[in-house]
Amino acid sequence: MAKTEDILELSVDDVSRALDKKLFSSSELTQAYIDAMSESGELNIYVDQTPELALEMAGSSDSRRSKGEVLGHMDGIPIAVKDLFCTKGVSSTAGSHILDGFKPTYESTVTKKLWESGAILLGKTNMDEFAMGSANVTSYYGPCINPWKAESGDNLGKDLVPGGSSGGSAAAVAARVALAAIGTDTGGSIRQPSSFCGIVGLKPTYGRCSRWGIISFASSLDQAGPLTRSVKDAALMLEVMAGYDPKDSTSADFEVTSYSEALSGKVEGLKIGIPAEYTLDGMPDEINSLWERGKRWLEDSGANIIDISLPHTKYALPAYYIIAPAEASSNLARYDGVRYGLRVEGEDLIDTYEKTRAQGFGAEVKRRIMIGTYVLSAGYYDAYYIQAQKVRSKIINDFDNAWSECDVILTPTAPSAAFSIGEKMDDPISMYMNDVFTVPASMAGLPAISVPAGLSNDGLPLGLHLIGPKFAEEKLLLVAKALELAADFSFRPKT
Ligand code: GLN
Repeated sequence: MAKTEDILELSVDDVSRALDKKLFSSSELTQAYIDAMSESGELNIYVDQTPELALEMAGSSDSRRSKGEVLGHMDGIPIAVKDLFCTKGVSSTAGSHILDGFKPTYESTVTKKLWESGAILLGKTNMDEFAMGSANVTSYYGPCINPWKAESGDNLGKDLVPGGSSGGSAAAVAARVALAAIGTDTGGSIRQPSSFCGIVGLKPTYGRCSRWGIISFASSLDQAGPLTRSVKDAALMLEVMAGYDPKDSTSADFEVTSYSEALSGKVEGLKIGIPAEYTLDGMPDEINSLWERGKRWLEDSGANIIDISLPHTKYALPAYYIIAPAEASSNLARYDGVRYGLRVEGEDLIDTYEKTRAQGFGAEVKRRIMIGTYVLSAGYYDAYYIQAQKVRSKIINDFDNAWSECDVILTPTAPSAAFSIGEKMDDPISMYMNDVFTVPASMAGLPAISVPAGLSNDGLPLGLHLIGPKFAEEKLLLVAKALELAADFSFRPKT
């Protein structure tokens, strides 16, 4: 068996081949991850670790392989799962006190597909409560800490956020305490933490992966996706996760192709759109220069860079912060302390509801519920909710027009590198600004990916972001692969 540190560096693709060659077994690999996971406690990445289950699943994978029955490239691969996915018999809390002790009696479709293809559950990862946040600081289980540390600047020596809301999943992959992970993205929650942690994060087209069994935040925006160490790994995982599910009425009955095979295509001649509106006042120079480098890299690979316009971009974030809370306020009405999770007994039923919800939800969730009920209330529905839906249509139209000019769009993933824990906490608007580049694609239901592309002046990872047309995951991954090759991001967190 190779040295443990070496094993932990391998990608899904490498491991899959190594398992075939019997260089080590899935049980050995899984044990190496379990050891690494149990030593990473100070980062607060996992809210629940499942080592016994992991070893049992690895044992089954090994015995299948010994009989020549390999279920595919995910067979024997240990992964981490955001605690928003319902996993049968394993606690699923959405990072909230209100789901204390909730062990679903069913499995989400996406995780079911992964287990059926032989993947192994290492544990459930920390996240912002109900996926509301950009820093993993709204979790009831305390903040998750980014394995990266600043090498200079104001944040030297401080604990940094991993981004959010899939912060635990991103940190797990970056810290080598999971080989890959899954998360969800409603307005940027896969892509922004991937940028902050120096890994690849893919949000597929809305409807590409089933939402069944994922604890709902904003149903018209939520989408599951992989967080990995390479573009190829993201493609391999998506092949397993994607597909039509009759249990989700918004899941798309659209063929799942071999995304990994599409990576051998050429980007030559593809048109890469650069939206003028994504240049923000006061954007740090390091973000602008990263974007410039990205354009050059794609040009050098034979693609054509063209300027485009997405005129309604600046309305995307405000409209998102009406639509997402509106849907959340409705989705979260189900938590009443009666059927599952926390119950705080009151004098009567209404009092029980009130006490349970008052104690069970954190401040950010309450803020969203209040905004959501306000914008849906009879007097303000037209002025806010309907107006935001109209803006959403304009954003969709902007992208539709752009696709007549370009194949994919290149932008930065986030307006900054990871910030310190505690920063932006008293300023929700500045926290919401983190999603300024990721939210428009979410509003339009488009696939988008963050690829680690360089380091900030303080030595922290920065991602570049690609957005593609609906169901154009193949093209998106192909261009992402070209960026990955050019960027050659080989840095590692030092903790
Ligand atoms: N940060 C955004 C929010 O708080 C996006 C969250 C997400 O994508 N789940 O709503």
